[in-house]
Amino acid sequence: MQRPEPLSDLDWSSERATEFAQATVELWTEYLGRLPDLPVVHPHTPAETRAAVLGRGVPDKPVSDDEILTHLRDVVFDHGAQTGHGGFMAFITGAGTVPGAPASLLAAGINQNLGGWPLGPAATEIENHVLAWFAGRLGLPAQASGAFVTGGATANLMALTVARDTLAGWDVRRDGIAAGPPLAVYISDDAHETVDRAADLLGLGTAAVRRVATDERFRVRPDVLEEAIRRDLAAGVKPLCVVGTAGTTELGAIDPLAALADVAERYGCWFHVDAAYGGPAAMVNELRPLFAGIERADSVTCDPHKWMNIPISASLVLFRDPARHLAAFTLQPDYTKLDAEVASDIVLRYQWTPQFTRPFDALPVWVSLLAHGWDVFARRIRHDVDLARWLHHLVTAHDELEPLADPELSIVCFRYVPPSALDDDAYLDDLNERILYAVQRAGHVYPSNAVVAGRYAMRACLISYRTEAEHVETLVDEVVRHGRSLHAARPAP
Ligand SMILES: *Cc1c(COP(=O)(O)O)cnc(C)c1O
Repeated sequence: MQRPEPLSDLDWSSERATEFAQATVELWTEYLGRLPDLPVVHPHTPAETRAAVLGRGVPDKPVSDDEILTHLRDVVFDHGAQTGHGGFMAFITGAGTVPGAPASLLAAGINQNLGGWPLGPAATEIENHVLAWFAGRLGLPAQASGAFVTGGATANLMALTVARDTLAGWDVRRDGIAAGPPLAVYISDDAHETVDRAADLLGLGTAAVRRVATDERFRVRPDVLEEAIRRDLAAGVKPLCVVGTAGTTELGAIDPLAALADVAERYGCWFHVDAAYGGPAAMVNELRPLFAGIERADSVTCDPHKWMNIPISASLVLFRDPARHLAAFTLQPDYTKLDAEVASDIVLRYQWTPQFTRPFDALPVWVSLLAHGWDVFARRIRHDVDLARWLHHLVTAHDELEPLADPELSIVCFRYVPPSALDDDAYLDDLNERILYAVQRAGHVYPSNAVVAGRYAMRACLISYRTEAEHVETLVDEVVRHGRSLHAARPAP
């Protein structure tokens, strides 16, 4: 047999790598410079976008750098969503920290695998270090464990998995969910639907999720929660987990966490806090009192890719008791045995999450914290809360706008109400929906919607560090402008 010759086509020299990377980095910095002047909206249909960015097939031969860059320009400028623009206020969308972006490049460049310490020694230690810092800031004990995961959806799924395996009362991992009585999960009316999906994926079924009524500030009512638990106990259902939401997605409402912790304790339930959105605010001293009780959680979901603006994805789940956490995901393949010295002090994180190979998601968080310092994040989070209050103030002061909830954190919901249609809720729902689309299409600001107590609302979530008072003022002007013209076009009754 002939000895194979080296084949280095895939391995670029460092000069070639620099050239290619620099062109890409220049595209990104050009994007940063032009961002304020770009329309917030992406005006193209899915078909147009597909045609523009996928004009070619997957090539068998290399494409020139120039052609690749031209293609990437389309992706960035003409066919991207400008989520980093200060006027982007939809959903819960961070802008991506500036230092986090090159950190992501480096994380990919060195390609560490956080499934196991030997494949990413420094990376694993950095992940541990950052997780411990979050746990400490959120008030969990020093020995708390956790992991970076793909998002709050996965974090909630993991938390419910550990709750189920710890408290069901039988070996669910071996015998399955059908081997015992039905289990129930309790959560706010306004909670995120990823909890329902977690219940589905875990075999509990979405019907096992009890939606508990909320009070006038959209927070779970502990008395109603307790009634629901008692009803289940009487019916032979095992209450498994109380989920408190620390910042609901629609409104930013914060459940009374300490009272929920009391109820969970009284009935032997797991207490999970979904702080995907509000978590970073709970780490800010002045806002901390709103979150009292979070430190009693058995598990916490927190998304640094939301209110810390870290590039997607940066999400974490934390567990008070590492033994319970590990027991839910342990597996021991034959090929991962390590020598005793290393194995005694090692983190094999393929045993810590449903994933096996894992990316170095902690690096952009770590580098962003190194480059900015936590104080800068904390100041910005307070500023976002101030901006939300400013927007709420403008709405309240305006004759044609109606606030639909007092902002707890940085989410504001309101609607346009022309004086001549004050009580016509069906018409107002329809009108406000049309206003939202008109405002989005105009491209100056990009809010999303919510339904608050049955009413269609304009919703602004202010977490981008590029959003300022001028953007929320533009939002008010835009809603009023489009509201007036759409209402004026109303056919006479
Ligand atoms: C956003 C959000 C989630 C889902 O998190 P992802 O990171 O989008 O997967 C879960 N719960 C709440 C309260 C959220 O706001």
